Amino acid sequence: MSSSGWGQAECQSCHALYPRSELDRYLWCPDCATSAARGARRWGRVTALAVAMALVLWIVLAARPGPQFRIFWVAPVLVTYLLVARIAQTIAMGVYRSRGVEKQRG
Ligand SMILES: [Zn+2]
Repeated sequence: MSSSGWGQAECQSCHALYPRSELDRYLWCPDCATSAARGARRWGRVTALAVAMALVLWIVLAARPGPQFRIFWVAPVLVTYLLVARIAQTIAMGVYRSRGVEKQRG
């Protein structure tokens, strides 16, 4: 039994005490969960943009589609962007969850 009172639990990220009901299933407080989600989304966007740009560069330099085929490359690039964004976001979230995240205000 802890002396901090029942119903309280420590946030696994910032180690502040919160009512158990306010923590999510990873035992993170709302502030930390929001910060991690925001950071993960940013990582997803940046990574996806980099990969999509690389793909576009490869298409332009290596694949060299004829002018009438260029439109067909838009869809794969868009799908790649969305897919990479999702994957990078999931990975970033996993990293945040295992390491903890710095709380952001505002
Ligand atoms: Zn926290």
